[in-house]
Amino acid sequence: MGAADAMISSTPFITVAFTGWLVTLLTRRPDAQGRLRYALARRTSCKDLIEALGVPHTEVGSLWLGEGREIPFSHIPRANELLTVCPHQPPVDLSRPSLLRPALLAKPRFLADANVAKLARKLRMCGFDTAYDPGWHDAALAGLAASQERILLSRDRGLLKRGKVHFGLLIREEAPARQLGEVLHFFGLAGALRPYSRCIRCNGELAPVAKEEILPLLEPLTRRYYHAFQRCRGCGQIYWPGSHRQEMTRFLSTLRHYQPLPY
Ligand SMILES: [Zn+2]
Repeated sequence: MGAADAMISSTPFITVAFTGWLVTLLTRRPDAQGRLRYALARRTSCKDLIEALGVPHTEVGSLWLGEGREIPFSHIPRANELLTVCPHQPPVDLSRPSLLRPALLAKPRFLADANVAKLARKLRMCGFDTAYDPGWHDAALAGLAASQERILLSRDRGLLKRGKVHFGLLIREEAPARQLGEVLHFFGLAGALRPYSRCIRCNGELAPVAKEEILPLLEPLTRRYYHAFQRCRGCGQIYWPGSHRQEMTRFLSTLRHYQPLPY
């Protein structure tokens, strides 16, 4: 055995097995069972190791050592260990603590990256608290996700790998209406829609307002045909049943036919 062979054989390795759809995120080709050998060149946590292989920690539902001991992200793997990385199984309830996410979210509140802007609008239309501003860059988004305890929605894996992001979801669907289906299915929120309760422009809550109070602001036809109005507590935008109704009807029908992605 030459010196080079001796060096290779003495490098400690672990085996990492990815299951479900997580296999599709890997930056290295695994074997038929979704397994990879990983060289432990330095002391590294499970979180960093999994992310080095391409999978953001937000997409991991549970982590197992050997034959079935559940472990946290902070576990430091040792030579010859077998680590199994499993995806979430929807519906995911973040108000229940888990070993990977001991912090709780009392209720789902979202934060949308600029790459899912239309999804943000649809979530607001369905009544879900969704912060969004196209000017927020990655560091600001990660900071807000942490300080406001929001679920960060993004198509950017790098952003979701940031340590400050505790709750997040990598959006896989392309079309905004299907992205909404993806989020509602993932968090089990299909029964929690509250249409016309939140401002699409600014995320503010809507409150009923008397027609007489806003009469000068209404177009003649709206004034004639509509009698129930709401006003945004944030920006003052006026809403009535006719506004955005077509868009709402269209995507509610898309939601009914939504076929969930594999997990
Ligand atoms: Zn508003």
